[in-house]
Amino acid sequence: MTTTTREMHAWGKLRPARATVCTPAWPPAALPGPGPLLAYGLGRSYGDSCLLDGGTMIETRFLDRIRAFDPHTGLLRAEAGISLDAILRFCVPRGWFLPTTPGTALVTLGGAIANDVHGKNHHRSGCIGNHIPAFDLLRSDQPVQTCHAGDALHAATIGGLGLTGLITAAQIQLTPIRSAFLDVELIRFSGLDEFMALSAESAATWEHTVAWIDCIAGGASLGRGIFIRGNWSDRGALTLHRPARLSVPMDLPACTLNRFSVRAFNTLYYRRFCGKTKTLHQHYAPFFYPLDGVGQWNRIYGKRGFYQYQCVTPPAAGTGPMVQILKQIAASGQASFLAVLKTFGHVASPGLLSFPTPGITLALDFADRGARTRELFDRLDAIVRDAGGRLYPAKDARMRADDFPRFYPQLETFRNHLDPSFTSEFWKRMHPH
Ligand SMILES: Cc1cc2nc3c(=O)[nH]c(=O)nc-3n(C[C@H](O)[C@H](O)[C@H](O)COP(=O)(O)OP(=O)(O)OC[C@H]3O[C@@H](n4cnc5c(N)ncnc54)[C@H](O)[C@@H]3O)c2cc1C
Repeated sequence: MTTTTREMHAWGKLRPARATVCTPAWPPAALPGPGPLLAYGLGRSYGDSCLLDGGTMIETRFLDRIRAFDPHTGLLRAEAGISLDAILRFCVPRGWFLPTTPGTALVTLGGAIANDVHGKNHHRSGCIGNHIPAFDLLRSDQPVQTCHAGDALHAATIGGLGLTGLITAAQIQLTPIRSAFLDVELIRFSGLDEFMALSAESAATWEHTVAWIDCIAGGASLGRGIFIRGNWSDRGALTLHRPARLSVPMDLPACTLNRFSVRAFNTLYYRRFCGKTKTLHQHYAPFFYPLDGVGQWNRIYGKRGFYQYQCVTPPAAGTGPMVQILKQIAASGQASFLAVLKTFGHVASPGLLSFPTPGITLALDFADRGARTRELFDRLDAIVRDAGGRLYPAKDARMRADDFPRFYPQLETFRNHLDPSFTSEFWKRMHPH
């Protein structure tokens, strides 16, 4: 185990944490020091849920070995620091894929479980936690134990923000594929009602659905975007993805992304194909991981960093709250071009603090423009709160502490499973007193 003291960052690069960082080479039998402690995967959480200032962070990236794989069932067992990227390198040539995946493969299995990440097939397959039959958990108050689906500690750890102990290894149920390609349709839509109709129409016959939305356009163009739906194809080889070839070499000036450059980009992107629909035979890399092709793309937002705001509003609220949210964002002129809209389905999330719940979810990036940006978020929060929705802690760096229990009604049950030595900047922020 190597130990250093250094600055650790989350993906949004807003406020670094200075921590003692332990990097074990093998799954430890005991946790370091008296604490406070927190595991750190690949730091792809945007906000501060993966940071612990002044504590000990357990960096898991060398806990990356595959321990077992059943080629008949697709059940894989690996150490928790393995990246989804490395799992894909192992399983795609063998005709298997992740059961669900976030928009980057550069996350660890442990980090994906701790945030119970979701992907484009949520309406069919739920979150990653729905496909984790068991994992090994090391707590400061107990020796390593195996937690199975249905156990209370399984439900607390899935989406448990790393606060129930260190996951050292996990099983994941992979899904069979015949090709590394998908049959994809892109459909331009002019507003939220059309988006909802496309989502409903696609739910039964398309495994993966998501939409890019133009969050700068207001007025008659409010809520316009491109609906993307795909099914695994029977055509094409089991070809692996390539590593990123480009990288952003430095923090760009904060003014690079402004209302005018984003508007120009969005207009071109919205009109990127002729006609209303385009079909593609597309490899999984550009379909699932378009941003992984550019290393350190988070530098485009400049030195001050950026926020991602992700909320979900429930079906009972209708589209009204999302229309209000889009109006606020368009009027502010602050949104970036990275904006994603999706409907979550009804597969129950297995974690006490899992974010996905049925409804419409919007995720988009905002460069940090100080008070102006935070005031916009406060207005968006009020709409989400009134609608009975919630925010995603993995993306959050500024949610109000009194909103957290409102958004997560199982929080009190979750508290019974906290590891007494684990905490995070997010958790401290949610408990200011
Ligand atoms: C480009 C991009 C696209 C994304 N798209 C999506 C998406 O579509 N859907 C989605 O849900 N999320 C998405 N995310 C968020 C990302 O998937 C999650 O934040 C993920 O959890 C990050 O994993 P990580 O390994 O980097 O973990 P970190 O960010 O380092 O840590 C995340 C949490 O996991 C805990 N943790 C890490 N390892 C362990 C362990 N071994 N044991 C216990 N706890 C642990 C940490 O303490 C922390 O609380 C995206 C992020 C990026 C940058």
